[in-house]
Amino acid sequence: MSDRDGFIWQDGKLVPWREATTHVLTHSLHYGMGVFEGVRAYKTESGTAIFRLKEHTERLFRSAHIFQMQMPYSQEELNEAQKEVIRANKLESGYLRPLAFYGSEKMGVSPKGAKVHVIIAAWPWGAYLGEEGMQRGIRIKTSSYTRHHVNITMVRAKASGNYMNSILANNEATTDGYDEALLLDPEGYACEGAGENLFIVKKGKLYTPDLTACLEGITRATVMQLAGELGIEVIEKRITRDEVYCADEAFFTGTAAEVTPIRELDNRQIGPGHRGPITKALQEKYFDVVYGRSAAHADWLAHV
Ligand code: PMP
Repeated sequence: MSDRDGFIWQDGKLVPWREATTHVLTHSLHYGMGVFEGVRAYKTESGTAIFRLKEHTERLFRSAHIFQMQMPYSQEELNEAQKEVIRANKLESGYLRPLAFYGSEKMGVSPKGAKVHVIIAAWPWGAYLGEEGMQRGIRIKTSSYTRHHVNITMVRAKASGNYMNSILANNEATTDGYDEALLLDPEGYACEGAGENLFIVKKGKLYTPDLTACLEGITRATVMQLAGELGIEVIEKRITRDEVYCADEAFFTGTAAEVTPIRELDNRQIGPGHRGPITKALQEKYFDVVYGRSAAHADWLAHV
């Protein structure tokens, strides 16, 4: 990823991609304390637009607040910088990665005395779980790794260190030939994927785990709202893994994963074993909104 043309926004200015580096004694590299976002920009008929930019930046600042990181820029500055990065890299669509981290000013667990640095990179990125997965649905496996307990780390924060858990789970599942992992919460209820929120459909209603242990996904909130507009009732509740086995449909949501159908959990086929009608309807509505084909929710698109 480091050897390519383009520009990365680093601490307030655009620097050539290959020169956007940091010292090996970067605090966050050693102790994992950083907060970040994953944001997508789509090519709409009226130009490239970043989807729900404001909400992503707000979550970035909430993540920083949780970990008492002092952000050296305002939300407005980082929103403008993200647009600038898309323009500078001449991207019509792509994935944006803002990251705030502690620099190399000091070592030792306490970050006090280390500076908060901010970078924003952007690059083209297709379907996260594969084009085929978007159409046919993916196969997932319950992880032997549990999603974080709420008093072990702060699960509302999209924080770098939290992703060791996701990496363990995703590695285990993909090494065994599955597309993604399903993590259970510490009490054994279905929680989320390594980088996605979970939904199931049963008898025409949509269910998703409550937010206790999972990330407050922006795609999750988007899909819940779109489902409501389609007249589909959405219920947030604890979900057991056997409820997922017996669901009519299941899907993951995420900025990277968008709306990805799940066709199998733990080698049990879910419903008909392919993308179901409600998943398809929500997937279509989601893409209509992000690509600006729907007049509704134009306010979710930040044109660059
Ligand atoms: N859960 C986890 C653990 C994630 O990493 C992500 C991706 N940010 C999500 C859920 C989905 O969140 P969003 O829809 O905001 O991308």
